[in-house]
Amino acid sequence: MPVRHKVVVVGAGPIGLAAAIDLAQQGVEVLVLDENDRVSWGSRAICFAKRPLEIFDRLGCGDAMVEKGVVWNRGKVFFDARQVYDFDLLPEEDHKRPAFVNLQQYHLEHYLVQCLQALADAGSPVTLRGRNRVVDLQTAEHGVSLEVETPEGNYRLEADWVIACDGANSPIRAMMNLDFRGRMFEDNFLIADVIMQADFPTERWFWFDPPFNRGQSALLHKQPDGVWRIDLQLGWDIDHQLEKQPERVIKRLQAMLGETVKFELEWISIYTFQCRRMERFRHGRVLFAGDAAHQVSPFGARGANSGFQDTDNLCWKLALVIAGKAPESLLDSYDLERVQAADENILNSSRSTDFITPKSETSRLFRDAVLDLSEHYAFARPLVNSGRLSLPAIHDASPLNGPDDPGLPAKTRPGAPAVDAPTSDGWLLDRIGGGFTLMAIDCDLPDGLDLGPTPVTVVRISKNGWSALAERYLGAATSAVYLLRPDQHIAARWQAYDPAAVRTALARAMGR
Ligand SMILES: Cc1cc2nc3c(=O)[nH]c(=O)nc-3n(C[C@H](O)[C@H](O)[C@H](O)COP(=O)(O)OP(=O)(O)OC[C@H]3O[C@@H](n4cnc5c(N)ncnc54)[C@H](O)[C@@H]3O)c2cc1C
Repeated sequence: MPVRHKVVVVGAGPIGLAAAIDLAQQGVEVLVLDENDRVSWGSRAICFAKRPLEIFDRLGCGDAMVEKGVVWNRGKVFFDARQVYDFDLLPEEDHKRPAFVNLQQYHLEHYLVQCLQALADAGSPVTLRGRNRVVDLQTAEHGVSLEVETPEGNYRLEADWVIACDGANSPIRAMMNLDFRGRMFEDNFLIADVIMQADFPTERWFWFDPPFNRGQSALLHKQPDGVWRIDLQLGWDIDHQLEKQPERVIKRLQAMLGETVKFELEWISIYTFQCRRMERFRHGRVLFAGDAAHQVSPFGARGANSGFQDTDNLCWKLALVIAGKAPESLLDSYDLERVQAADENILNSSRSTDFITPKSETSRLFRDAVLDLSEHYAFARPLVNSGRLSLPAIHDASPLNGPDDPGLPAKTRPGAPAVDAPTSDGWLLDRIGGGFTLMAIDCDLPDGLDLGPTPVTVVRISKNGWSALAERYLGAATSAVYLLRPDQHIAARWQAYDPAAVRTALARAMGR
């Protein structure tokens, strides 16, 4: 008889691993299957943004990421042979995590495997099986049946729920005959990861139309272990084999870096990209996340970064549904919220791509004029688009949002992710943790609150001496009560505590 599992995650890429850890931390039994038995290799993601770093804190590898990664906040934009301006991504102080770290995707996957293994060793119900490729999937009203191919032969298993994290070419998507709509960009980019000892600062450098790659763009990023990522736009009509030849790549890099800089090639690849998504991310008992559900251009580092926000959004909802504490329809809010986020990412990523690679002479004239102006006039800088870097989506239209108080600051309105700030007892996001939380700032809450069967952590905070907290959560108000979801998005807020209003908002946030 096939064994039945609560949740099967297909794909142990970064997104599948994050989903499995998240569920296991909540006590949900989960099996992860991957056709490979190793972390990814080659040139893949390197830039991880602040919000995913905050999610990694909860998953258990935030410190490892920041300790190993290269922290950067500054970027520089070049046009032709000159620097036109530079920018600071996180001008605001008082956040535990930086705007970005650069770290090879294989390091991140390694940390995630370690977190998953630690959970399994401590008795959590999570298992990872490599060289287990899903080759067939049948859905039914109450579950999913899968056929898995292994070197020892095929076997079948069943699952109450499947999370498909099987990447851009998602075999699960194909098995279910599901659509994937969007735009393909007719361009090629050469990625060279090179090992060099260079004294360039730890910044993101982006070139429009540089002398060493006329008519195209280029990007330089630092990674740990003396590795640098160089991204050179090549145009559409190229000979792939020829462009990947090491001698040719070395010539291109020497033109960019100078003849005297010594480097060694680590990886060379050429990629094209698409901006597209599935129409829906929930198909009954199969839920799609990460690249399987949506893809964007790498400009803006929105691929993996948005995938972690998918699983952060999905796993608490699925855990509540499995525990019978929330209706299945709560999962529809995953679809709604993350499709909206994917659209935002696709829009930003397509706009960046159109700016970087103008599609008509008029667009090019506009772009070059903006770049020229940006050198001397600050007003033109927001128009320069070398990749608007990944920011978390705000779910303004979510059906899970409860009441708002317009007297409180807009940045922490319902639907927004909580903004970090130092408090008398450590960083705010660490104190909020990963369950429902009622946060009272300078507001009296009675002891022994009864908010119903779902556990709600109560966090009492004083703003005294903590100006960032006051500015982010109070504005001109003197007190506030915030209800936060397990993914640290704000569900509702008030200036004073009203137990009936909190209970109603909590039920709403759970889809009841
Ligand atoms: C050049 C480049 C640069 C990038 N830079 C960034 C960046 O800086 N920041 C960022 O956030 N993103 C970046 N990305 C995107 C990022 O790499 C992806 O978004 C991320 O890998 C998606 O993770 P995933 O887990 O959804 O899919 P994947 O990483 O593709 O993992 C899918 C997993 O599913 C497994 N699998 C597939 N089929 C089956 C099957 N039938 N059965 C079992 N297992 C299966 C695969 O073996 C694989 O392990 C970049 C991508 C590229 C190509």
